[in-house]
Amino acid sequence: MKKVSILIPMYNEQEVLPALFERLSALMDSNPAYLWEVVMVNDGSTDATPAKALEMHRRDNRFHFIDLSRNYGKEIAMMAGFDFVTGDCTVIMDADLQHPPEVIPKMIAQWEKGYDDVYGRRITRGKEPWLRKRLSLLYYTLLQKTTKIPILENVGDFRLLDRSCIEALKQMRETHRYTKGLFCYIGFKKIDVPFEQADREAGQTKWNLLKLLGFAIEGITSYTTVPLRIATVAGFIVSTGALLYLVYILIKTLVVGEHVAGFPTLMVTILFLGGLTLLTLGIMGEYIGRIFNETKNRPVYFVREVDGQRHRQNKGHENKETAS
Ligand code: UDP
Ligand code: MG
Repeated sequence: MKKVSILIPMYNEQEVLPALFERLSALMDSNPAYLWEVVMVNDGSTDATPAKALEMHRRDNRFHFIDLSRNYGKEIAMMAGFDFVTGDCTVIMDADLQHPPEVIPKMIAQWEKGYDDVYGRRITRGKEPWLRKRLSLLYYTLLQKTTKIPILENVGDFRLLDRSCIEALKQMRETHRYTKGLFCYIGFKKIDVPFEQADREAGQTKWNLLKLLGFAIEGITSYTTVPLRIATVAGFIVSTGALLYLVYILIKTLVVGEHVAGFPTLMVTILFLGGLTLLTLGIMGEYIGRIFNETKNRPVYFVREVDGQRHRQNKGHENKETAS
């Protein structure tokens, strides 16, 4: 019998857990043709999420519970989940039931047809602030234009992945993670399944504009070096302009002489070039910061408990070099 894992990262989701338990139990009970496993990854919640998740495990042992040592962010929580799922395929979904579990059988049907990566495509986005929706669309257009890897629009993290994809993703252990891009990077046979994104069942969204902006920069800097190229091109254009201007000034001085003036021109040029230099340094800094963080080569996350038991050995992410 094939096994299906459901991976759910959760951070302060105590309000939705009862509903989540009901919906998932109903789904699993109505599909006895598969073995089921739910892996809930608690991403350092500060509310009753761990206690409630553990209770779910005690009530029904198809539910498993991984407790991370602190809040690492959804991207890393998902990675921890990849290390623990055991299914022949894995469905990733949000805890807040914005991703309706009822779509999962449709995904499984596509997987059975031979697709490796069955992703949910939102046909509605549910309730979302207007500004966020606009910015998000603009961002994806920008990302699409600057990366060579196609990043799919209106596609979130709700998807089914074959074991082979999970194994591929497990090999990408970078600290700065932009999983949405990783799914595209690994390739494999993909197909979409449309779904209506529901409104959040209960609780609060964990994102604010600042967090989203950080995530957006993450997306761009981890997928493309185009900003560095832009800095080079801008530098080239400005210095060519400056050279031409120099020639012009020289000739003008020789022909008609020079009356000392041009303070505004001087100021504008200095400020403009100063700004450009700082911007370029900032862009380079973003990349150097990433190099710095990745070269430390630290384990990406630590696990505190698994199914209520203390976890001593950190599975799957030991540093290979330290073994000797
Ligand atoms: N989440 C997480 N760690 C975080 C923030 C969020 O594991 O630091 C989880 C959260 O519990 C939920 C999913 O990521 O299951 C999506 O979060 P949310 O619904 O707040 O995002 P939105 O749907 O508003 O984009
Ligand atoms: Mg949500």
